[in-house]
Amino acid sequence: MKNLDQKFRFLLTGVALGAVAFVAPTIAAEDDKPAKPAVAKKQDEDAEAKEEKADDKAEEAEDEDKKKKEKTIAEKVKDMTELDGLFKMYQDPKNGSLMMEVREDQLGKEFIYFSHTADGVVEGGHFRGQYRQQKVFRIEKHFNKLEFVEVNPYFYFDPDNALSKAKDANISSATIATHTIDAKSEDGKSYLISVTGLFQSEAFDQVKPTPNPRLKPWERFNLGKLNSAKTKIQAVNNYPENTAVTVNYVYSNPTPMNRGQWFEITDARNVTVSVQHTLVAMPENDFKPRFDDPRVGYFLDYVNDMTDHGATPWRDMINRWNLVKKDPSAEISEPVEPITWWIENTTPTELRPTIRKAVEAWNIAFEAAGFKNAVVVKEQPDDAEWDAGDIRYNVLRWTSSPQPPFGGYGPSFSNPRTGQILAADIMLEYTFLTNRMNASKVFESAALGLESQDSQMEDFMASVKGHGRNCNLAGHLQINNMLGKTLAAINEAGPQASEKLVEEAIYYLMLHEVGHTLGLNHNMKATQARAYDEAHDIDKQANGLAGSVMDYPSINFAPPGEKQAHYYTVTPGTYDIWAIQFGYDPDLDDPAKMEAHLARSTEKALVFGNDADDMRAPGKAIDPRVNIYDMTDDAVQFAQDRLRLDRDAMGKLRAKFTTEGQSYQELRNAYLILTADMAWQGRVASRYVGGVYVDRAVAGQDGATAPYRPVEKDKQEQAMKLLRDYIFAPDAFQADPALFQHLAIQRRGFFHFTSNEDPALHGRALSIQADILAHLLHPNTLMRITDSGLYGNSYDVTEMMTDLTDAIFEDDSRGAVNTFRQELQVHYVKRLIGILESDDYDYVARSNAFSSLKTLGKDMARWRGDAATRAHRDHLAFLIEKALEVHKG
Ligand SMILES: [Zn+2]
Repeated sequence: MKNLDQKFRFLLTGVALGAVAFVAPTIAAEDDKPAKPAVAKKQDEDAEAKEEKADDKAEEAEDEDKKKKEKTIAEKVKDMTELDGLFKMYQDPKNGSLMMEVREDQLGKEFIYFSHTADGVVEGGHFRGQYRQQKVFRIEKHFNKLEFVEVNPYFYFDPDNALSKAKDANISSATIATHTIDAKSEDGKSYLISVTGLFQSEAFDQVKPTPNPRLKPWERFNLGKLNSAKTKIQAVNNYPENTAVTVNYVYSNPTPMNRGQWFEITDARNVTVSVQHTLVAMPENDFKPRFDDPRVGYFLDYVNDMTDHGATPWRDMINRWNLVKKDPSAEISEPVEPITWWIENTTPTELRPTIRKAVEAWNIAFEAAGFKNAVVVKEQPDDAEWDAGDIRYNVLRWTSSPQPPFGGYGPSFSNPRTGQILAADIMLEYTFLTNRMNASKVFESAALGLESQDSQMEDFMASVKGHGRNCNLAGHLQINNMLGKTLAAINEAGPQASEKLVEEAIYYLMLHEVGHTLGLNHNMKATQARAYDEAHDIDKQANGLAGSVMDYPSINFAPPGEKQAHYYTVTPGTYDIWAIQFGYDPDLDDPAKMEAHLARSTEKALVFGNDADDMRAPGKAIDPRVNIYDMTDDAVQFAQDRLRLDRDAMGKLRAKFTTEGQSYQELRNAYLILTADMAWQGRVASRYVGGVYVDRAVAGQDGATAPYRPVEKDKQEQAMKLLRDYIFAPDAFQADPALFQHLAIQRRGFFHFTSNEDPALHGRALSIQADILAHLLHPNTLMRITDSGLYGNSYDVTEMMTDLTDAIFEDDSRGAVNTFRQELQVHYVKRLIGILESDDYDYVARSNAFSSLKTLGKDMARWRGDAATRAHRDHLAFLIEKALEVHKG
C-alpha cells in the first residue's frame, strides 16, 4: 500500500508538471536572470499581482456602477458578439475581452478540462499538437463569486460503506480561480463572469515549464515572464459539447542568457506559445468502465479503492473508446459510432494510401472483438472549415519542424471518471522520411548520447505518466532505417531494399501510433513471440514479425546467406488482436468469459511487458526479454548475427560511402550508425547477465511458470562471451586507418565553433563499453545475481566477475595492450575501485571487487610488454595498490 501511495504521488506530480520536462536542455528557469535592483523587482511583483487580479480589479471598478443599477446579462452583453455552446461566451468586438455565462444547472456539475499546445517552440517546452492536461473540475457559487475547483478523481469509496461519508478526508481539491459575478439573467438562473484573465493567465494550465535544476541557466532556454499586455485570446470556438479558447501567450525576457540553438526562436526576448483550453461536458452515456489486468497493456485512469480490503485495492480503468454494436445480438456488427480518423490536409499525398491502409488494418483486431468497420479513415478537404485543434475530430497530422521532439506521437485524452477515450490525434514528423540526422547530437556526443537520450526519455515518460500516451518510436525507427540503408548499401541489396524498408517503417509507425490511440501502451516484450529461426522466413510471418506492433524492435535485416523477409512487422499481431478483444469485445463483460480470455496470457504469442519493465537503461528492470532494439526469442543470437554484420560492414564502409564530388559527411554518419548499433546489440545481450524472467500469470493459470526464474547459466555465459568477442575484444573497434582518416564532417558556417570536429575514436569506443559495464556492474545487477542465487541462479558474482575481468584483460595479457584496451582496462579498474569504496553495493559484490583488484594488482606487476604497455600497467598497479592500501589498516 505504501508503494502504491508513493507511486500515486509521483503520478500526480507528473500530471502537475505537464508534458515538458523531457526537453531538458531547453527548459526555462526563473533564476537565470541577473539580480535586479529592489525597485525593479518590486515593480515586477506588482505587475504580477495586477495581472492575477486583472479581472477582479476591473470588476471592483465596476462595483460602484453596479450598486447604482444592477444590469442584467442581456444589458451587459448587448454590444458583444454572442457565441453559443457548452458555456455561452460573449466577446467584445472592440477589445476582444471575453465573458462567460454559467447556468444554475451547470453549478456543482463535473466537467472535464483538457489543454493542448496549438503551436509552440520545442526549446520552450511546447510543440504543435502536444497534449497537456486533463482534469475534472466543477464551478461552485460562493456568495457573489463563482469558483472553478479541480476535483480529485483518484479515489473510490463504496457508497454503501459508512466511510464514504468521510470520502473527502485528507484529499485536497484545488481552487483554480475565483471570479466575481458581473450580472445575472433576468430570471436569475444564469451568471455572467469576465474570463479574459482566467484564460490569459496560467490558472488552468502551467504553460511555462518548471526549470530543469540539472542545467545551468545558460544551458537552458528561458521563456521569461508572461507578458500580459502582449498575450491575447486568439480564437474562441464553441460547440454544444465543448467550449474551446485558444490563447497566444507571449513571454518576454529582456536579457536572455540562452537564445536558443535551432533557429526556431526568432527572437529570444519575445516568444509566443499558443495553448488551447477546452472545457468539455462530462459524457452522459451508459459506457461501462473496464478494469485493468496486469497481463494486458492499456493506458489507465488510476483509482484507489479506499474501502477495499484486498492486497490490490485498485479500480484502475483502461482507456478505450465507447464502441457499441448497432445490432447487439449480431456476432459481428458495425458500431453505432466508429472511431473515425481524418488524414490532415497537410499530409503529403503520396503517403496517404499507405497511411489509410495501415490505419484500416486495425479492423482485423476489431472483427475478432465483434465489430465490423470499427475504424474508418477520411481525408480532410483542403477547404475544411474545421482544423485539427477541434477535439471533435481525430486527426493524423503531419508537420516538418526544425528540431522535432518526436518523429511521431499518438496521444489521447480520456474521461478520468470512466476511462472513456474522448479524443486522440497522431502527430507525425516529415523528418522521419528524410535522411536528416536529427539525432546527430545524440550520436556525436562523447557519451554516445545513449544515456542522455534515455534519461531524457525517462524524464519525459515520468512527467507525463498521468497521460502516459507518448512515444518515441519514429525516432527509433528512423535510426533503424538509417542502419538498414547502410547495411543494404554494404550488402548490395539494391535501391528497392531501401524503398521497401522505408515503406514498411511508415506502415509500422502508423500501426503503432494508432495502437496507442486505441488505448494500448507499449509491449517491449513482443519480439520474443517470434522464434529465432523464423526471423528470415517470410512464410512464417503472416501474423507479423512479433506478437505486437507496440514494440521498439530492431530492424530485421537478413545476414548474408539468408533471404530478406519483412524488415518490420506490417500487421497487428496476435497479442494486439487479443488485447483489442480484452478492451472492446462486449461478450467479455461476462466475467467467466473474461477470465477464460485472460487465461491465454501464457501463450508465447501473447507475451507482454511495457516501458516500466524494459531494460533499456543500465540497472533498470529485471527481465531481459523486455527490451528495445532486440528481435526474436533468441535475442542474444540475433545480436551476435548483427554484430558480425556490423563488423563486416565496417571494413567496407569507406569504399561504399565515398561519393566523388561530395564531402565525407555520409561516411561519418554511416560510421556513427554502425557503432551505435554495436552499442544497442551489446546492451541487449548484456541484460541477460544476472537477468530474471518474469511471468505475470496468476496462480494456477495453465502454462504458468514461477513468477521469477533466473536466466539459465549457459545463456548468461553466452551473453558474456558475445560481449567479450564483440564489445571488449582488443580489435572490437579497430578499423582501417584510412577509414578513421576520412570520418570528416562537412563544414557549415561556424557550427563546430564550440566543439572540436575530432572523430573522438577512443571516446566513442569507451562510451559504448562503459555503458555496458554500467549495467553489468550496477548495484542492482550485482545484488540480483546474489539474490537470485537463492532461487535458481547458478552464475554467481565470483564467476561473473572473473569472466568479465578475463574478457577485459586476458586476450592481450602476453603482449602489447593497444590504446582502445588501455582505456577500457583503466576504466574497468576504476569501476572496481568504485565498487569497493561505495556503500551502494552489497558486501558480496564489494568482496569480489576486492579480490579481482588483488589478482589484477599481481598480474600488472607480473605481465610485461612494450614501453607503452608497461606505462599503462604501472599506472594500473599504482591505482590498485593505492586503493587496497586504504583497506589494509
Ligand atoms: Zn509508442
